[in-house]
Amino acid sequence: MDVDRIPPAPVHPESPAIDADLVAVSAERCTWCGSADRQAYPRLRQDDGHSSPGWYHCTRCGLWNSQDPTGGDAAVADEEYAYAGMYQKHLARKLRTAHHRCRVLEAMMPARGALLDIGCSYGSMLAAGAQRGWRTAGVDISPAVVKVAREQGLDAHVALMTALPFADGSFDLVHAKHVIEHDMQTYRALSEMQRVARPGALIMVETPDAESRRHSAPPDQLAATSKHWTIWHRVLFTPATLAGFCTRLGWTQVAEPAVVWGPPGFLAWRAFKRWGEKSRRVSRLVTFWRVP
Ligand SMILES: [Zn+2]
Repeated sequence: MDVDRIPPAPVHPESPAIDADLVAVSAERCTWCGSADRQAYPRLRQDDGHSSPGWYHCTRCGLWNSQDPTGGDAAVADEEYAYAGMYQKHLARKLRTAHHRCRVLEAMMPARGALLDIGCSYGSMLAAGAQRGWRTAGVDISPAVVKVAREQGLDAHVALMTALPFADGSFDLVHAKHVIEHDMQTYRALSEMQRVARPGALIMVETPDAESRRHSAPPDQLAATSKHWTIWHRVLFTPATLAGFCTRLGWTQVAEPAVVWGPPGFLAWRAFKRWGEKSRRVSRLVTFWRVP
């Protein structure tokens, strides 16, 4: 398998302990590098009726922490708002891209085993994985979407990513797409993924990229009006800070294979996706990790 090893990011000596309560830490200092040298910026835009808090931007490492580290759950679990509009209308496309996503992950795996989808929503990834021969399970914060997934026969559970309802070493693959930005306790969330993963398992973490070309505006403007600086996000990562959290837990970053074969629809989807990510024109950061 042709994968590049990416060296671990340096750890700052004063960065918070891995088991520290990062919700409490976040009021005082950066939850990655521990620096108190942060700039506070107000959130000026109302987010679809939800009032959003301001943000801290670490001037040393670039990590963003929300000023309300426990707010936003009601907005996130609001099915009508957070799921119906953004996901339910697009279920056919979601299922199709879930198959594409599985195909890429399968190219990085020796065999198809047990797959966990964190933030499974209506279950597109669970359904695609099951159709492709994976044993799949998922969790989501919203009871409404978990109910819909279960009605389709999918193994979905209402749970927080910081307290997963699975035994140690249950999964060969953990898929966490746009979830870690919803909890300030980054280590706790990543440690839970590692706990339920088998040694050597693959973990995909995708999250907004606070330093993408789309986010090249000055920090005050990003905090004031940009899409991802909302109440339902509590931490926003740069590539280096996300890599810092993961490598500090002993994870090894692996690159996607350059070439993954598939039908024309898949090849077109992946070429466009990779172009956006490599050029950092899109606002997402897509990373793959092996746990020890
Ligand atoms: Zn920092």
